[in-house]
Amino acid sequence: MKIAMIGTGYVGLVSGVCFSDFGHEVVCIDKDPAKIARLEKGEVPIFEAGLDAVMARNVEAGRLSFTADTTRGVAGADAVFIAVGTPSRRGDGHADLSYVLAAAESVGRALTGYAVVVTKSTVPVGTNRKVAEAIRAVAPEARFDVASNPEFLREGAAIDDFMRPDRVVVGVESERAREVMQQVYRPLYLRDFPIVYTDLESAEMIKYAANAFLATKISFINEIAALCERVGADVKAVAKGIGLDGRIGNKFLHAGPGYGGSCFPKDTRALARIGQEHGVPQRLTEAVIAVNDEVKRRMVEKVCELCGGSVNGKAVAVLGVTFKPNTDDMRESPALTIVPALVGGGARVRVVDPQGRREGEALLPGVTWESDPYVAAEGAEALIIITPWNEFRALDLGRLAEGMAVPRMADLRNIYEPRDVYEAGFLSYVSVGRSLDR
Ligand code: NAD
Repeated sequence: MKIAMIGTGYVGLVSGVCFSDFGHEVVCIDKDPAKIARLEKGEVPIFEAGLDAVMARNVEAGRLSFTADTTRGVAGADAVFIAVGTPSRRGDGHADLSYVLAAAESVGRALTGYAVVVTKSTVPVGTNRKVAEAIRAVAPEARFDVASNPEFLREGAAIDDFMRPDRVVVGVESERAREVMQQVYRPLYLRDFPIVYTDLESAEMIKYAANAFLATKISFINEIAALCERVGADVKAVAKGIGLDGRIGNKFLHAGPGYGGSCFPKDTRALARIGQEHGVPQRLTEAVIAVNDEVKRRMVEKVCELCGGSVNGKAVAVLGVTFKPNTDDMRESPALTIVPALVGGGARVRVVDPQGRREGEALLPGVTWESDPYVAAEGAEALIIITPWNEFRALDLGRLAEGMAVPRMADLRNIYEPRDVYEAGFLSYVSVGRSLDR
């Protein structure tokens, strides 16, 4: 199979690299020439563990190449994937389809023979038909089918997720397109995984429904956590107790500072918007969004309370600002609400993040970057854990407490046990959903 992948971001690059690892001939295309130049030099522009090695071995084998020239990249392809961004449109929460439709037009101009044009980007119901229209508008004679193939990989575990997916969803309308998609994913069949063939609309809907459901689990446990704090319960025990029920499952039941990232916030907003447009309000999803906004604000209050009502003039160490560990992605990270609120409240904020600095420097003005948690905590009056990187999971609490001017901790991921923190010399400790904190 010859595959063209348009967009070399977190999804496009991982997908393109993995498809080449399956043995397909893949050209990754991006409109950003600087990105392509780095890729051609063998540099990976994002942080995703293991990606550099898989990329290098497939470039070496001659199966993977990069170009900024869509016409060249698409020529002769059996399948052209569109994996460009679909951010929230400013103002109304609707998914901004301008990148997808621009990519579709450029595909229309570049098609040389029959190809399946596959939308991998997360797009509202009806977009695949718009992609087909956009292609036809610039190339009425083009021979192609469209397919919807939403992606479910998680940043930080992207290669494994792509190679060992829980399922692959493919929306198609013709037998020919289905056959091409079958060939594309055939190497995975050896591992016996479910592939769900469906119509275009259902495939598009599956992605939003999946993300809204996962976001619902997070907002649900965060709301329960707030109640746990009031009634004297421990949300970790509650999550374990409910998660052992197979109907509920134990994943995505970690109370914390709210969901962030490049998907859940924008996809829940888009689903709510789609519901409003069709006169079928998605009230649960709307509540999930409101709860998530609220939880981030609650975290700021928690930290201020920990610091005796105000952070003004206080040195505060923040551990972790990416939206989750093992990625450099800062998009809609809870830290983007919490840290500016602390800076705005007059705190002198020192940040440590294993991968977040490159993106974070522009997004978090007024903070100082450190590379060592102990250095960041030296002389600080509070330590705040926002992202649970492994590097922050087994800190020497005694050493931290000793170096701090006032040893106080806000553990917004419930990494530590209150007793251990106090025994190490901390004077106060707050976490999420555990009334034992105080
Ligand atoms: P991204 O912003 O990291 O990458 C998008 C890339 O597309 C950029 O490099 C950009 O330069 C390029 N691009 C935009 N328009 C182009 C064009 N016309 N021609 C060529 N290149 C173009 O985005 P992402 O995080 O990879 O997300 C892509 C899509 O996948 C989104 O719809 C997202 O919702 C979905 N998705 C993302 C994830 C994730 O974890 N990031 C997971 C599943 C699905």
